[in-house]
Amino acid sequence: MKDNPQSRFSFRVTSDNARTRRPPLQGEIGFIGLGHMGAAMAANLVVSGYGVIAHVRRLEQMGRLKALGLNPTTELADLFACEFVISMLPDDGAVREIVLGDEERDGLAIGLTPGATHLSMSTISTAAASEVAAEHAVHGQGYVAAPVFGNPDAAKARQLFIIAAGAPADVERCRPLLDVLGQRTFVVADNPAHANLIKLAGNMLTATTLEALAEIVALIRKRGLDPKPFIDIMTDTMFGGRAHRIYGEKIVGERYAPGFALPLALKDVRLALAEAEKTAVPLPSVSVVRDRMTAGIAHGYADLDWSALGLIAAEQAGLSANASIVVDPASAK
Ligand code: NAD
Repeated sequence: MKDNPQSRFSFRVTSDNARTRRPPLQGEIGFIGLGHMGAAMAANLVVSGYGVIAHVRRLEQMGRLKALGLNPTTELADLFACEFVISMLPDDGAVREIVLGDEERDGLAIGLTPGATHLSMSTISTAAASEVAAEHAVHGQGYVAAPVFGNPDAAKARQLFIIAAGAPADVERCRPLLDVLGQRTFVVADNPAHANLIKLAGNMLTATTLEALAEIVALIRKRGLDPKPFIDIMTDTMFGGRAHRIYGEKIVGERYAPGFALPLALKDVRLALAEAEKTAVPLPSVSVVRDRMTAGIAHGYADLDWSALGLIAAEQAGLSANASIVVDPASAK
């Protein structure tokens, strides 16, 4: 993929009202990865008038997806005629599997027709993004990386922030879909991998913010104060951003239902550390978060949100937890 240094730091932004001006795309949109994020995003496409053919691995998921208005199939090959396929998968391995295929079945690169576009919205490494982009290019297909900021509630409410990168013509072709899925799209580069680097870097700001919130709330609590007014003061004064407001409230309320499950968050932490190591950049605060998350998973919190860093910090401070832990029954596993 060709790098365009000039586009690295200039963003082209799609406004909200662009959503209403764009003509509809023809044919069904393929969708792969119908979990916490993907199911909400695919359902929004349906509400906006798109037909969506959704690939699931297990038959028992079909009913849930039909109820959302999707056309589910267990055959990846049923998506091969689509002009656009969106993927929202957990990690590098899953994205490689659906693009490259295996001994048993062809992947998207072999199966899609030349001219089709894969809109890849998962949080993955820069290496995996470059590898699958190159594979699609060999087969004459477009590849746009478009990872997102925002949790499943934001996905449902079309409030995602999308970081997009790819050949400009491919990105433009995906615009109508991006406009339906998010509130704002930042086009950051021609090289898809750059979108993934920006996404990982941004997630590390949130991860370290969560850790700092978790530690300080444990201190306030252990000294016998109510952390709610403390967080209210902080978010009304020095820390008024979304991360402190959203996650401060979750940690104070001890609400740790996913959301963004700890193992997936740990995956992002590991990817970010690997990206940093490649360029000899130490990220000591991110290493602390990795150890905290690993401890949380060892304690059996793999089904909790990454805001459960609050629970982990409280336990390490000797506080007894009072978490209202609710595992989301709609989660597609
Ligand atoms: P999830 O685990 O809830 O969903 C992943 C889905 O992919 C599941 O339905 C699973 O069955 C399916 N899947 C896994 N491997 C597959 C394969 N090989 N072939 C087909 N389907 C497969 O995950 P999620 O929370 O929806 O996150 C999806 C992606 O979005 C991840 O990359 C994550 O890092 C990113 N993300 C998540 C959040 C969040 O708050 N949950 C926010 C931003 C970005």
